[in-house]
Amino acid sequence: MKLLEERISKDGLVKEGNVLKVDSFLNHQMDIELFNEMGKEFKRLFGDRPINKILTIEASGIAIAAIAAQYFDVPVVFAKKSQSINLDGSVYSTKIESFTHKKIYDVIVSKKYLSPEDHVLVIDDFLANGCAINGLIELINEAGATIEGVGIAIEKGFQNGGQKLREQGINLHSLAIIDKMDPVEGSITFRQE
Ligand code: 5GP
Repeated sequence: MKLLEERISKDGLVKEGNVLKVDSFLNHQMDIELFNEMGKEFKRLFGDRPINKILTIEASGIAIAAIAAQYFDVPVVFAKKSQSINLDGSVYSTKIESFTHKKIYDVIVSKKYLSPEDHVLVIDDFLANGCAINGLIELINEAGATIEGVGIAIEKGFQNGGQKLREQGINLHSLAIIDKMDPVEGSITFRQE
């Protein structure tokens, strides 16, 4: 998606450790006009699927998913990062290792909000090694729901999460795929489709 690539080139900051900071328009301050365009693009890419729910993970996925949901007319469920797992059987749970914080979180979704009837589009801000998305897919599988697709704002194509998901046959679309980024020069190279 040209608009997003241009914005990343203009305002993205390449940090050490393969981290891209996009705090000025995506992860801290949020450009809602841009989010609207991203929502429309997700609708164009996944609109042929019978999606009745969008699943994301707190915190940065929520706003992107919420804006996109307006184009699908479906509710958004966000998986919660929980310190104390409720073991009374009312939640689906899995563990996710955070790429940016290097911590392992228990992640939960209430059984009330994910069920075998659901056809789910998963949305998140970044795809790196795929831990977050794999965790969300596990929750969907636990619920017996159907994964209709995975929509990502920024995929770091030089990490292997995207490749593994595509090899599994997941219907994955990323709005911008970065093939290379250099913290010294600050340069970012996008994959050309
Ligand atoms: P993964 O689980 O695929 O390794 O990493 C994805 C998660 O880590 C995303 O939910 C995102 O919050 C965070 N993340 C991964 N790489 C980056 C990055 O370069 N910049 C930022 N801001 N977040 C990232």
